[in-house]
Amino acid sequence: MNGKSFFVDLTLCTACRGCQVACKQWKKLPAEKTRNMGSHQNPQDLSSKTIRLVRFNETMDDKGKLSWNFFPEQCRHCIEPPCKYVVNMYAPGGVVQDPETGAVEMTDKAIIKPGRLDSWELCPYNVPRQDPETGLWNKCDMCIDRVKIGMLPSCVQSCPTGTMNFGDREDMLALANKRLAEVQKTKPKAFLADPEDVRVIYLCETDPENYAEHLVASVDQRKTVMTASGPAQTKSSRRGFLSAALGKNKKA
Ligand code: SF4
Ligand code: SF4
Repeated sequence: MNGKSFFVDLTLCTACRGCQVACKQWKKLPAEKTRNMGSHQNPQDLSSKTIRLVRFNETMDDKGKLSWNFFPEQCRHCIEPPCKYVVNMYAPGGVVQDPETGAVEMTDKAIIKPGRLDSWELCPYNVPRQDPETGLWNKCDMCIDRVKIGMLPSCVQSCPTGTMNFGDREDMLALANKRLAEVQKTKPKAFLADPEDVRVIYLCETDPENYAEHLVASVDQRKTVMTASGPAQTKSSRRGFLSAALGKNKKA
């Protein structure tokens, strides 16, 4: 069995944020104090309390025409998840992968000294976030408690436009490729984001940078995180390797 996947058709998203709210409700995550930063996006970034965020990005073409690109961001449930290797090096049992669905879950053992790791060091999509007080890392778990009893993830259940889809991986890949062919008739730049590597497959109608910085993972970064988390690496050599390879200046 190839497990489950999401298909997220960004051409249909209206940024209603129903999925963002449904996620908070099901996971019983508290609201956060925010302030208006001149955008409809709220809050401004993912956090340990906001594990699904609808990003609003405004772009202008060379004729001066504005368009909005909406990006409901979440963990991609990687087929080979780098976070599993990195987190488990510091906190054994902190990340587990469900063999039936492929869901990647962070457990209550995913506690690492606050500030020790940045999200980019364990995830090529920069998704997980740490509670700065408890040190517990958090992210989407595919609503595994719902999925195991035959329910849809809460974000999919709440989406009124058909953007969010969920099911067997083969069916989601077939749907994604069918929609891609349709959309490419009028939007030739349309593409699927990293469909071979992840279980959350986004259909995008324009370049990835028009949605978000980390919509796709660079091949180099994925390789770097995976290599740095391999069995031959110690914690300190892994951090040195990552900092050098990714050009980050962070104290090991
Ligand atoms: S997207 Fe990031 S957090 Fe999610 S499974 Fe992949 S590496 Fe882990
Ligand atoms: S509920 Fe659906 S349409 Fe609304 S923001 Fe989420 S993905 Fe987009």
